[in-house]
Amino acid sequence: MDKKKLIAVWEKFAEKNDFKLNPNIEIVEMVAEGALNNEKNHGMKYCPCRVSSGDFEKDLLLVCPCNFRIQKTWAEKGECWCSLFVKRK
Ligand code: SF4
Repeated sequence: MDKKKLIAVWEKFAEKNDFKLNPNIEIVEMVAEGALNNEKNHGMKYCPCRVSSGDFEKDLLLVCPCNFRIQKTWAEKGECWCSLFVKRK
């Protein structure tokens, strides 16, 4: 999958939710590149903002998109850790 396709998948994922992709396309592209690099080097599209543990089961929680709405940063800032997804206003 290339960067453009991944961003389209994320857009679709956010479509009917109370969040959307960050309107800052540079951030979105940076996260997409990071996730795709992780896939190339570590086998899965792990979150580029967090460190994987090497434990496959645990690291599944880090595959993007993760369950970011349980994160503290979502409650406090209305953004996932990488600012890829932001709350709709
Ligand atoms: S914090 Fe954001 S960028 Fe990271 S895995 Fe979760 S949804 Fe993806």
